[in-house]
Amino acid sequence: MGKTYEVVVIGAGPGGYVAAIRAAQLGLRVAVVEREQLGGVCLNWGCIPTKALLASASIYRNISHAAEFGILAKNVSIDFSKVVQHSRTVANKLAGGIQFLLNKNGVEVIKGHGKLLGASKLEVHNEKQERIEISAKHIILATGSRARALPGIKLPDKYLWSYKEAMLPDALPKSLLVVGSGAIGVEFASFYNALGVQVTIVELFDRILRAEDEEIALAAHKSFEKQGMQIFTQTTVKSANETKGRVEVVLESKDGKTLKLAVDRIISAIGIQPNLENLGLEKTKVALDNGLIKTDPYLRTDEPGVYAIGDVTKGPWLAHKASEEAVVCVEKIAGRNPHPIERNNIPGCTYCHPQIASIGLSEEDAAARGKIKVGRFPLSANGKAIAMGETEGFVKVIFDVATGELLGAHMIGAEVTEMIQGFAIAKQLEGTELDLMHTIFPHPTISEAMKEAALDADKQAIHI
Ligand SMILES: Cc1cc2nc3c(=O)[nH]c(=O)nc-3n(C[C@H](O)[C@H](O)[C@H](O)COP(=O)(O)OP(=O)(O)OC[C@H]3O[C@@H](n4cnc5c(N)ncnc54)[C@H](O)[C@@H]3O)c2cc1C
Repeated sequence: MGKTYEVVVIGAGPGGYVAAIRAAQLGLRVAVVEREQLGGVCLNWGCIPTKALLASASIYRNISHAAEFGILAKNVSIDFSKVVQHSRTVANKLAGGIQFLLNKNGVEVIKGHGKLLGASKLEVHNEKQERIEISAKHIILATGSRARALPGIKLPDKYLWSYKEAMLPDALPKSLLVVGSGAIGVEFASFYNALGVQVTIVELFDRILRAEDEEIALAAHKSFEKQGMQIFTQTTVKSANETKGRVEVVLESKDGKTLKLAVDRIISAIGIQPNLENLGLEKTKVALDNGLIKTDPYLRTDEPGVYAIGDVTKGPWLAHKASEEAVVCVEKIAGRNPHPIERNNIPGCTYCHPQIASIGLSEEDAAARGKIKVGRFPLSANGKAIAMGETEGFVKVIFDVATGELLGAHMIGAEVTEMIQGFAIAKQLEGTELDLMHTIFPHPTISEAMKEAALDADKQAIHI
Protein backbone atom coordinates (compact mmCIF):
# COMPACT_ATOMS: atom_id res chain seq x y z
CA MET A 1 0.00 0.00 0.00
CA GLY A 2 1.53 3.34 -1.09
CA LYS A 3 1.26 6.74 0.56
CA THR A 4 -1.96 8.74 0.64
CA TYR A 5 -2.37 12.51 0.58
CA GLU A 6 -5.19 15.00 0.09
CA VAL A 7 -3.14 16.96 -2.43
CA VAL A 8 -0.10 15.95 -4.47
CA VAL A 9 1.61 18.50 -6.69
CA ILE A 10 3.84 17.33 -9.54
CA GLY A 11 6.57 19.92 -10.11
CA ALA A 12 8.08 22.34 -7.58
CA GLY A 13 8.46 25.52 -9.62
CA PRO A 14 6.74 28.80 -8.63
CA GLY A 15 3.43 27.14 -9.50
CA GLY A 16 4.00 23.85 -7.68
CA TYR A 17 5.77 24.94 -4.51
CA VAL A 18 3.31 27.79 -3.94
CA ALA A 19 0.39 25.35 -4.41
CA ALA A 20 1.95 22.97 -1.89
CA ILE A 21 2.58 25.68 0.72
CA ARG A 22 -0.91 27.18 0.35
CA ALA A 23 -2.47 23.70 0.61
CA ALA A 24 -0.51 23.05 3.81
CA GLN A 25 -1.56 26.45 5.21
CA LEU A 26 -5.18 25.44 4.59
CA GLY A 27 -4.69 22.27 6.61
CA LEU A 28 -4.44 19.77 3.74
CA ARG A 29 -2.02 16.82 3.84
CA VAL A 30 0.23 17.59 0.91
CA ALA A 31 3.29 16.31 -0.94
CA VAL A 32 5.22 17.77 -3.86
CA VAL A 33 7.03 15.58 -6.40
CA GLU A 34 10.12 17.08 -8.09
CA ARG A 35 12.58 15.35 -10.41
CA GLU A 36 15.21 18.11 -10.49
CA GLN A 37 15.81 21.11 -8.23
CA LEU A 38 13.17 22.75 -6.07
CA GLY A 39 12.19 26.15 -7.45
CA GLY A 40 11.78 25.01 -11.07
CA VAL A 41 12.92 27.04 -14.03
CA CYS A 42 12.19 30.34 -12.30
CA LEU A 43 14.68 30.00 -9.47
CA ASN A 44 17.25 27.77 -11.13
CA TRP A 45 17.30 28.71 -14.82
CA GLY A 46 14.96 31.65 -15.38
CA CYS A 47 13.78 34.73 -13.52
CA ILE A 48 16.34 34.80 -10.73
CA PRO A 49 19.70 33.78 -12.32
CA THR A 50 19.04 36.06 -15.33
CA LYS A 51 18.39 38.99 -13.01
CA ALA A 52 21.67 38.25 -11.23
CA LEU A 53 23.47 38.30 -14.60
CA LEU A 54 21.70 41.52 -15.55
CA ALA A 55 22.69 43.06 -12.20
CA SER A 56 26.36 42.46 -13.12
CA ALA A 57 25.74 44.04 -16.55
CA SER A 58 24.08 47.03 -14.92
CA ILE A 59 27.05 47.61 -12.59
CA TYR A 60 29.42 47.45 -15.56
CA ARG A 61 27.25 49.86 -17.56
CA ASN A 62 27.08 52.31 -14.64
CA ILE A 63 30.84 52.19 -14.17
CA SER A 64 31.29 52.97 -17.86
CA HIS A 65 29.32 56.20 -17.27
CA ALA A 66 30.79 56.91 -13.84
CA ALA A 67 32.94 59.82 -15.06
CA GLU A 68 29.75 61.79 -15.90
CA PHE A 69 28.95 61.63 -12.19
CA GLY A 70 32.44 62.67 -11.13
CA ILE A 71 33.58 59.17 -10.23
CA LEU A 72 36.75 58.01 -11.93
CA ALA A 73 37.06 54.26 -12.25
CA LYS A 74 40.15 53.20 -14.14
CA ASN A 75 41.16 49.83 -15.56
CA VAL A 76 37.73 48.31 -15.13
CA SER A 77 37.57 44.76 -16.42
CA ILE A 78 35.22 41.79 -16.32
CA ASP A 79 35.90 38.54 -14.50
CA PHE A 80 33.28 36.59 -16.43
CA SER A 81 33.58 33.39 -14.40
CA LYS A 82 32.67 35.46 -11.30
CA VAL A 83 29.68 36.95 -13.13
CA VAL A 84 28.39 33.42 -13.79
CA GLN A 85 29.33 32.28 -10.31
CA HIS A 86 27.35 35.14 -8.74
CA SER A 87 24.29 34.13 -10.73
CA ARG A 88 24.61 30.46 -9.67
CA THR A 89 25.16 31.38 -6.01
CA VAL A 90 21.98 33.46 -5.99
CA ALA A 91 19.97 30.69 -7.72
CA ASN A 92 21.22 28.02 -5.32
CA LYS A 93 20.54 30.16 -2.29
CA LEU A 94 16.93 30.71 -3.30
CA ALA A 95 16.35 27.07 -4.24
CA GLY A 96 17.63 26.15 -0.76
CA GLY A 97 15.14 28.63 0.67
CA ILE A 98 12.28 26.72 -0.96
CA GLN A 99 13.33 23.53 0.84
CA PHE A 100 13.20 25.49 4.11
CA LEU A 101 9.73 26.87 3.36
CA LEU A 102 8.36 23.46 2.39
CA ASN A 103 9.78 21.91 5.59
CA LYS A 104 8.43 24.75 7.70
CA ASN A 105 4.94 24.16 6.30
CA GLY A 106 5.08 20.39 6.71
CA VAL A 107 5.04 19.68 2.98
CA GLU A 108 6.57 16.33 2.11
CA VAL A 109 9.04 16.48 -0.79
CA ILE A 110 9.24 13.33 -2.91
CA LYS A 111 12.20 13.30 -5.29
CA GLY A 112 11.63 11.70 -8.67
CA HIS A 113 9.58 11.75 -11.86
CA GLY A 114 5.83 11.79 -11.24
CA LYS A 115 3.34 10.14 -13.59
CA LEU A 116 -0.42 9.83 -13.36
CA LEU A 117 -1.87 6.33 -13.16
CA GLY A 118 -5.42 7.64 -13.31
CA ALA A 119 -7.53 10.33 -11.65
CA SER A 120 -6.36 9.88 -8.08
CA LYS A 121 -3.23 7.77 -8.38
CA LEU A 122 0.30 8.43 -9.46
CA GLU A 123 3.68 6.77 -9.43
CA VAL A 124 7.07 8.28 -8.79
CA HIS A 125 10.29 6.87 -10.21
CA ASN A 126 13.36 8.07 -8.37
CA GLU A 127 17.08 8.05 -9.10
CA LYS A 128 17.51 4.79 -7.16
CA GLN A 129 15.23 3.14 -9.73
CA GLU A 130 12.56 2.75 -7.04
CA ARG A 131 8.87 3.04 -7.85
CA ILE A 132 6.56 4.62 -5.29
CA GLU A 133 2.79 4.50 -5.70
CA ILE A 134 0.80 7.39 -4.26
CA SER A 135 -2.92 8.06 -3.87
CA ALA A 136 -4.26 11.60 -3.70
CA LYS A 137 -7.76 13.03 -3.83
CA HIS A 138 -6.43 16.01 -5.77
CA ILE A 139 -3.43 16.02 -8.12
CA ILE A 140 -2.05 19.31 -9.42
CA LEU A 141 0.10 19.21 -12.56
CA ALA A 142 2.73 21.95 -12.35
CA THR A 143 5.39 20.44 -14.59
CA GLY A 144 6.31 23.69 -16.33
CA SER A 145 8.13 24.04 -19.62
CA ARG A 146 11.48 23.94 -21.39
CA ALA A 147 13.03 25.83 -24.30
CA ARG A 148 11.66 25.09 -27.77
CA ALA A 149 14.35 23.83 -30.16
CA LEU A 150 15.25 25.90 -33.23
CA PRO A 151 13.71 23.92 -36.10
CA GLY A 152 15.96 22.73 -38.90
CA ILE A 153 19.22 23.84 -37.27
CA LYS A 154 21.69 21.19 -36.11
CA LEU A 155 24.81 22.39 -34.36
CA PRO A 156 26.92 21.06 -31.48
CA ASP A 157 25.62 22.31 -28.06
CA LYS A 158 28.81 24.34 -27.76
CA TYR A 159 27.53 26.69 -30.49
CA LEU A 160 23.76 26.57 -30.13
CA TRP A 161 22.62 27.64 -26.68
CA SER A 162 19.23 27.47 -25.03
CA TYR A 163 18.69 29.71 -22.01
CA LYS A 164 20.45 27.14 -19.82
CA GLU A 165 23.75 27.15 -21.73
CA ALA A 166 23.48 30.93 -22.23
CA MET A 167 23.64 31.28 -18.46
CA LEU A 168 26.72 29.14 -17.93
CA PRO A 169 29.39 29.88 -20.53
CA ASP A 170 33.07 29.48 -19.65
CA ALA A 171 33.99 32.67 -21.46
CA LEU A 172 32.39 35.65 -23.16
CA PRO A 173 31.86 35.10 -26.89
CA LYS A 174 32.93 37.94 -29.19
CA SER A 175 29.72 37.80 -31.20
CA LEU A 176 26.30 36.35 -30.65
CA LEU A 177 23.15 35.79 -32.66
CA VAL A 178 19.93 35.83 -30.62
CA VAL A 179 17.06 34.14 -32.43
CA GLY A 180 13.73 35.43 -31.13
CA SER A 181 13.03 38.79 -29.54
CA GLY A 182 10.61 38.00 -26.73
CA ALA A 183 11.50 38.81 -23.12
CA ILE A 184 14.06 36.00 -22.79
CA GLY A 185 15.81 36.84 -26.09
CA VAL A 186 16.15 40.55 -25.43
CA GLU A 187 17.26 40.04 -21.82
CA PHE A 188 20.17 37.88 -22.99
CA ALA A 189 20.86 40.31 -25.85
CA SER A 190 21.01 43.18 -23.33
CA PHE A 191 23.25 41.25 -20.94
CA TYR A 192 25.82 40.23 -23.52
CA ASN A 193 25.73 43.57 -25.33
CA ALA A 194 26.44 45.42 -22.07
CA LEU A 195 29.55 43.27 -21.56
CA GLY A 196 30.88 44.19 -25.00
CA VAL A 197 29.67 41.27 -27.13
CA GLN A 198 28.57 42.13 -30.69
CA VAL A 199 24.90 41.11 -30.60
CA THR A 200 22.57 40.49 -33.54
CA ILE A 201 18.86 39.79 -33.03
CA VAL A 202 16.68 38.05 -35.63
CA GLU A 203 12.92 38.09 -35.36
CA LEU A 204 10.35 36.45 -37.61
CA PHE A 205 7.59 38.95 -36.78
CA ASP A 206 7.60 42.49 -38.21
CA ARG A 207 8.86 43.98 -34.95
CA ILE A 208 10.70 42.92 -31.83
CA LEU A 209 8.89 42.27 -28.53
CA ARG A 210 5.63 41.39 -30.23
CA ALA A 211 3.79 40.97 -26.90
CA GLU A 212 4.36 44.65 -26.10
CA ASP A 213 2.52 47.77 -27.20
CA GLU A 214 3.93 48.74 -30.61
CA GLU A 215 5.16 52.18 -29.52
CA ILE A 216 7.13 50.63 -26.65
CA ALA A 217 8.57 47.90 -28.90
CA LEU A 218 9.71 50.50 -31.46
CA ALA A 219 11.35 52.60 -28.72
CA ALA A 220 13.19 49.50 -27.48
CA HIS A 221 14.31 48.68 -31.04
CA LYS A 222 15.75 52.19 -31.45
CA SER A 223 17.49 52.03 -28.08
CA PHE A 224 19.02 48.59 -28.74
CA GLU A 225 20.38 49.79 -32.10
CA LYS A 226 21.80 52.88 -30.40
CA GLN A 227 23.59 50.54 -27.99
CA GLY A 228 25.19 48.78 -30.95
CA MET A 229 22.95 45.77 -31.51
CA GLN A 230 22.00 44.73 -35.02
CA ILE A 231 18.33 43.81 -35.46
CA PHE A 232 16.68 42.00 -38.37
CA THR A 233 12.89 41.69 -38.26
CA GLN A 234 10.80 39.57 -40.66
CA THR A 235 13.86 37.39 -40.91
CA THR A 236 14.61 33.73 -40.22
CA VAL A 237 17.71 31.60 -39.88
CA LYS A 238 17.95 29.67 -43.14
CA SER A 239 21.04 27.68 -42.21
CA ALA A 240 23.81 27.59 -39.63
CA ASN A 241 27.03 25.61 -40.06
CA GLU A 242 30.15 25.26 -37.98
CA THR A 243 33.26 26.64 -39.70
CA LYS A 244 36.65 27.01 -38.06
CA GLY A 245 35.34 27.36 -34.51
CA ARG A 246 32.59 29.79 -35.46
CA VAL A 247 29.12 29.51 -36.95
CA GLU A 248 28.35 30.69 -40.44
CA VAL A 249 24.72 31.73 -40.48
CA VAL A 250 22.53 32.51 -43.47
CA LEU A 251 19.60 34.79 -42.64
CA GLU A 252 16.65 35.06 -44.98
CA SER A 253 14.25 38.01 -44.97
CA LYS A 254 10.55 37.83 -45.83
CA ASP A 255 11.24 39.07 -49.37
CA GLY A 256 13.72 36.24 -49.96
CA LYS A 257 16.96 38.24 -49.58
CA THR A 258 19.76 36.41 -47.81
CA LEU A 259 22.59 37.66 -45.64
CA LYS A 260 25.67 35.77 -44.42
CA LEU A 261 26.90 36.33 -40.91
CA ALA A 262 29.68 34.69 -38.88
CA VAL A 263 29.07 34.50 -35.13
CA ASP A 264 30.67 32.71 -32.19
CA ARG A 265 27.45 31.49 -30.58
CA ILE A 266 23.69 31.37 -31.18
CA ILE A 267 21.04 31.68 -28.49
CA SER A 268 17.71 30.13 -29.44
CA ALA A 269 14.92 32.03 -27.69
CA ILE A 270 11.96 31.17 -29.86
CA GLY A 271 9.60 30.16 -27.11
CA ILE A 272 8.78 27.37 -24.73
CA GLN A 273 7.35 23.89 -24.86
CA PRO A 274 5.23 22.43 -22.02
CA ASN A 275 6.54 19.39 -20.12
CA LEU A 276 3.77 16.90 -20.88
CA GLU A 277 5.79 13.84 -21.83
CA ASN A 278 5.58 10.66 -19.78
CA LEU A 279 3.04 12.26 -17.47
CA GLY A 280 0.35 9.59 -17.90
CA LEU A 281 -2.18 12.03 -19.38
CA GLU A 282 -3.43 9.26 -21.68
CA LYS A 283 -4.76 7.46 -18.59
CA THR A 284 -7.06 10.40 -17.82
CA LYS A 285 -9.61 12.66 -19.49
CA VAL A 286 -7.21 15.62 -19.28
CA ALA A 287 -7.59 17.50 -22.59
CA LEU A 288 -5.16 19.75 -24.43
CA ASP A 289 -5.87 23.05 -26.13
CA ASN A 290 -3.21 24.24 -28.56
CA GLY A 291 -0.70 21.82 -27.04
CA LEU A 292 -1.27 23.08 -23.47
CA ILE A 293 -3.42 21.57 -20.70
CA LYS A 294 -6.96 22.89 -20.91
CA THR A 295 -8.39 24.18 -17.63
CA ASP A 296 -11.40 26.12 -16.39
CA PRO A 297 -10.96 29.41 -14.49
CA TYR A 298 -10.28 27.42 -11.29
CA LEU A 299 -7.54 25.42 -13.04
CA ARG A 300 -9.60 22.20 -13.14
CA THR A 301 -8.87 19.93 -16.09
CA ASP A 302 -11.47 17.75 -17.81
CA GLU A 303 -10.56 14.94 -15.39
CA PRO A 304 -12.23 15.47 -11.98
CA GLY A 305 -9.58 15.72 -9.25
CA VAL A 306 -6.77 16.66 -11.68
CA TYR A 307 -5.70 20.30 -12.01
CA ALA A 308 -3.02 22.14 -14.00
CA ILE A 309 -1.24 25.43 -13.29
CA GLY A 310 1.66 27.49 -14.62
CA ASP A 311 3.56 27.00 -17.86
CA VAL A 312 1.74 23.76 -18.79
CA THR A 313 -1.43 25.84 -19.23
CA LYS A 314 -2.38 28.86 -21.34
CA GLY A 315 0.03 31.82 -21.07
CA PRO A 316 1.33 34.29 -20.25
CA TRP A 317 4.17 32.00 -19.16
CA LEU A 318 5.31 33.94 -16.16
CA ALA A 319 6.24 32.95 -12.62
CA HIS A 320 3.73 35.26 -10.92
CA LYS A 321 0.93 33.91 -13.11
CA ALA A 322 1.90 30.34 -12.11
CA SER A 323 1.94 31.26 -8.40
CA GLU A 324 -1.41 33.06 -8.54
CA GLU A 325 -3.00 30.14 -10.37
CA ALA A 326 -1.61 27.89 -7.62
CA VAL A 327 -3.42 29.88 -4.93
CA VAL A 328 -6.73 30.03 -6.85
CA CYS A 329 -6.54 26.29 -7.58
CA VAL A 330 -5.78 25.22 -4.01
CA GLU A 331 -8.26 27.58 -2.37
CA LYS A 332 -11.00 26.16 -4.60
CA ILE A 333 -9.93 22.61 -3.65
CA ALA A 334 -10.13 23.62 0.03
CA GLY A 335 -13.69 24.86 -0.43
CA ARG A 336 -12.87 28.56 -0.34
CA ASN A 337 -14.28 31.02 -2.85
CA PRO A 338 -11.27 32.48 -4.70
CA HIS A 339 -11.59 34.92 -7.58
CA PRO A 340 -10.39 33.47 -10.89
CA ILE A 341 -7.43 35.30 -12.40
CA GLU A 342 -8.22 38.35 -14.50
CA ARG A 343 -5.75 37.88 -17.38
CA ASN A 344 -5.73 41.59 -18.20
CA ASN A 345 -4.39 42.29 -14.73
CA ILE A 346 -1.23 40.19 -15.07
CA PRO A 347 1.77 42.53 -15.36
CA GLY A 348 4.65 41.64 -17.67
CA CYS A 349 8.24 42.80 -17.18
CA THR A 350 11.31 42.59 -19.40
CA TYR A 351 14.56 43.35 -17.64
CA CYS A 352 16.54 44.50 -20.66
CA HIS A 353 18.14 47.95 -20.79
CA PRO A 354 16.05 50.09 -20.81
CA GLN A 355 13.53 48.03 -18.84
CA ILE A 356 10.01 47.42 -20.12
CA ALA A 357 6.86 46.83 -18.09
CA SER A 358 3.23 46.65 -19.05
CA ILE A 359 -0.24 45.63 -17.97
CA GLY A 360 -3.59 45.39 -19.72
CA LEU A 361 -4.46 46.24 -23.29
CA SER A 362 -2.11 47.71 -25.87
CA GLU A 363 -3.23 50.92 -27.57
CA GLU A 364 -4.11 48.94 -30.69
CA ASP A 365 -6.25 46.38 -28.83
CA ALA A 366 -7.92 49.01 -26.66
CA ALA A 367 -8.77 51.16 -29.68
CA ALA A 368 -10.34 48.14 -31.37
CA ARG A 369 -12.75 47.81 -28.43
CA GLY A 370 -13.98 51.39 -28.09
CA LYS A 371 -13.08 55.07 -27.67
CA ILE A 372 -9.88 55.60 -25.74
CA LYS A 373 -7.71 58.40 -24.36
CA VAL A 374 -3.93 58.03 -24.28
CA GLY A 375 -1.52 59.94 -22.04
CA ARG A 376 2.26 59.91 -22.24
CA PHE A 377 5.11 61.32 -20.20
CA PRO A 378 8.81 61.19 -21.12
CA LEU A 379 11.42 60.37 -18.47
CA SER A 380 13.52 63.20 -19.96
CA ALA A 381 11.14 65.56 -18.08
CA ASN A 382 11.36 63.71 -14.76
CA GLY A 383 13.70 65.16 -12.10
CA LYS A 384 14.80 61.87 -10.54
CA ALA A 385 15.49 60.30 -13.95
CA ILE A 386 17.61 63.32 -14.90
CA ALA A 387 19.52 63.12 -11.57
CA MET A 388 20.19 59.43 -12.23
CA GLY A 389 21.23 60.03 -15.86
CA GLU A 390 18.40 57.71 -16.96
CA THR A 391 16.31 59.96 -19.19
CA GLU A 392 15.55 57.41 -21.87
CA GLY A 393 11.97 56.11 -22.05
CA PHE A 394 8.40 57.10 -21.26
CA VAL A 395 5.19 56.10 -19.54
CA LYS A 396 2.02 55.57 -21.55
CA VAL A 397 -1.48 55.07 -20.14
CA ILE A 398 -4.71 54.17 -21.90
CA PHE A 399 -8.17 54.99 -20.53
CA ASP A 400 -11.69 54.24 -21.64
CA VAL A 401 -13.26 57.58 -22.67
CA ALA A 402 -16.75 56.73 -21.40
CA THR A 403 -15.85 55.34 -17.97
CA GLY A 404 -12.32 56.64 -17.37
CA GLU A 405 -11.24 53.03 -16.58
CA LEU A 406 -7.53 52.30 -16.84
CA LEU A 407 -7.32 49.83 -19.73
CA GLY A 408 -3.58 49.53 -20.15
CA ALA A 409 -0.25 50.94 -19.02
CA HIS A 410 3.07 50.56 -20.83
CA MET A 411 6.45 51.81 -19.76
CA ILE A 412 10.02 51.77 -20.95
CA GLY A 413 12.89 53.17 -18.90
CA ALA A 414 14.67 52.97 -15.58
CA GLU A 415 12.92 51.19 -12.68
CA VAL A 416 9.71 50.58 -14.63
CA THR A 417 9.64 46.90 -13.60
CA GLU A 418 9.26 48.12 -10.00
CA MET A 419 6.78 50.86 -10.91
CA ILE A 420 4.32 48.67 -12.85
CA GLN A 421 2.89 47.39 -9.57
CA GLY A 422 1.29 50.81 -9.05
CA PHE A 423 -0.72 50.32 -12.22
CA ALA A 424 -1.42 46.67 -11.28
CA ILE A 425 -3.05 47.79 -8.02
CA ALA A 426 -4.99 50.50 -9.88
CA LYS A 427 -6.27 47.90 -12.36
CA GLN A 428 -7.10 45.37 -9.65
CA LEU A 429 -9.17 48.05 -7.88
CA GLU A 430 -10.75 49.02 -11.23
CA GLY A 431 -9.11 52.44 -10.92
CA THR A 432 -9.89 55.30 -13.24
CA GLU A 433 -8.07 58.22 -14.76
CA LEU A 434 -9.31 60.43 -11.91
CA ASP A 435 -8.05 57.98 -9.27
CA LEU A 436 -4.56 58.15 -10.75
CA MET A 437 -4.73 61.94 -11.21
CA HIS A 438 -5.68 62.37 -7.54
CA THR A 439 -3.14 59.89 -6.16
CA ILE A 440 -0.21 61.65 -4.51
CA PHE A 441 3.13 60.34 -5.80
CA PRO A 442 6.28 61.03 -3.77
CA HIS A 443 8.83 63.50 -5.11
CA PRO A 444 11.37 63.01 -6.50
CA THR A 445 10.64 59.59 -7.96
CA ILE A 446 10.50 58.20 -11.46
CA SER A 447 6.99 57.04 -10.55
CA GLU A 448 5.81 60.66 -10.79
CA ALA A 449 5.87 60.03 -14.55
CA MET A 450 2.93 57.64 -14.00
CA LYS A 451 0.78 60.43 -12.58
CA GLU A 452 1.94 62.89 -15.24
CA ALA A 453 1.02 60.40 -17.97
CA ALA A 454 -2.48 60.09 -16.47
CA LEU A 455 -2.72 63.90 -16.33
CA ASP A 456 -1.51 64.11 -19.93
CA ALA A 457 -4.43 61.96 -21.11
CA ASP A 458 -6.59 64.93 -20.07
CA LYS A 459 -4.08 67.60 -21.21
CA GLN A 460 -3.29 68.51 -17.59
CA ALA A 461 0.34 67.35 -17.30
CA ILE A 462 2.32 69.93 -15.33
CA HIS A 463 5.91 69.29 -16.39
CA ILE A 464 5.63 69.14 -20.19
C1 LIG B 1 15.61 32.61 -19.05
C2 LIG B 1 14.26 32.80 -18.45
C3 LIG B 1 13.95 33.97 -17.78
C4 LIG B 1 12.71 34.14 -17.21
N1 LIG B 1 12.44 35.29 -16.55
C5 LIG B 1 11.22 35.48 -15.99
C6 LIG B 1 10.92 36.66 -15.27
O1 LIG B 1 11.76 37.56 -15.15
N2 LIG B 1 9.71 36.79 -14.72
C7 LIG B 1 8.74 35.82 -14.83
O2 LIG B 1 7.63 35.98 -14.31
N3 LIG B 1 8.99 34.69 -15.52
C8 LIG B 1 10.20 34.49 -16.10
N4 LIG B 1 10.46 33.32 -16.76
C9 LIG B 1 9.38 32.33 -16.87
C10 LIG B 1 9.24 31.52 -15.58
O3 LIG B 1 10.48 30.94 -15.25
C11 LIG B 1 8.18 30.46 -15.76
O4 LIG B 1 6.97 31.06 -16.19
C12 LIG B 1 7.93 29.73 -14.45
O5 LIG B 1 9.09 29.09 -13.98
C13 LIG B 1 6.81 28.69 -14.62
O6 LIG B 1 6.58 28.08 -13.41
P1 LIG B 1 5.99 26.59 -13.32
O7 LIG B 1 5.87 26.31 -11.87
O8 LIG B 1 4.81 26.47 -14.17
O9 LIG B 1 7.08 25.66 -14.00
P2 LIG B 1 8.65 25.47 -13.82
O10 LIG B 1 9.29 26.59 -13.16
O11 LIG B 1 9.12 25.07 -15.18
O12 LIG B 1 8.76 24.22 -12.84
C14 LIG B 1 8.30 22.96 -13.20
C15 LIG B 1 9.02 21.93 -12.36
O13 LIG B 1 8.43 20.67 -12.59
C16 LIG B 1 9.44 19.68 -12.64
N5 LIG B 1 8.89 18.54 -13.39
C17 LIG B 1 8.52 18.52 -14.69
N6 LIG B 1 7.96 17.32 -14.99
C18 LIG B 1 8.01 16.58 -13.87
C19 LIG B 1 7.58 15.28 -13.54
N7 LIG B 1 6.94 14.51 -14.42
N8 LIG B 1 7.81 14.82 -12.29
C20 LIG B 1 8.43 15.59 -11.36
N9 LIG B 1 8.84 16.86 -11.61
C21 LIG B 1 8.61 17.35 -12.84
C22 LIG B 1 10.60 20.37 -13.31
O14 LIG B 1 11.82 19.73 -12.98
C23 LIG B 1 10.50 21.78 -12.71
O15 LIG B 1 11.27 21.90 -11.54
C24 LIG B 1 11.72 33.12 -17.32
C25 LIG B 1 12.02 31.93 -17.98
C26 LIG B 1 13.27 31.76 -18.53
C27 LIG B 1 13.58 30.47 -19.22
